[in-house]
Amino acid sequence: MKRVWMMIPLILLSGCWKQDITKLEVKMINAKGESLGTVTLQEVSSGVKVKVKLNGLPPGEHAIQIYDKGQCKIPDFKTAGEHFNPDEKEHGLLHPKGSHAGDLPNLIVKDDGSVKAELMAGNLTLKEGIKKSLFTKDGTAIVVHEGKDDGMTQPDGDSGKRIGCGEISKDKKKK
Ligand code: ZN
Repeated sequence: MKRVWMMIPLILLSGCWKQDITKLEVKMINAKGESLGTVTLQEVSSGVKVKVKLNGLPPGEHAIQIYDKGQCKIPDFKTAGEHFNPDEKEHGLLHPKGSHAGDLPNLIVKDDGSVKAELMAGNLTLKEGIKKSLFTKDGTAIVVHEGKDDGMTQPDGDSGKRIGCGEISKDKKKK
């Protein structure tokens, strides 16, 4: 009987340790470090769902991509590195040798500066320890650009300056 009681906390503990993150809220900032809203990443069977809820952006079409360094230092966000590309492909959703795992469809920002969108990243995961995982040694980040991604031009779709950034970090996890 004693032995059964000892087993229960063990089972509970191991259950917690093995649980992968399935949802993560990323806080986005602009070049001044002000909040732009959030991007929520959610693990689904076909990849990672990217739920965008931003405001304070210039109206029009903007590139949004996942980058391969988890650092968003204002004002230019160069610290975020380059597009997350674990499969060593070419840039662009329209490129025949593409695309980077971090490439996403453009955002359309409304006249009031807001955008709500749901994008799918089929070559990414929130599970740890595999190549396409967003939790790498260097970390990863989400970047919004001044211009749109043409889906073809190397290395970033001719999308211009980086105007928004958010670090993808496990510490900020949300169930
Ligand atoms: Zn790319």
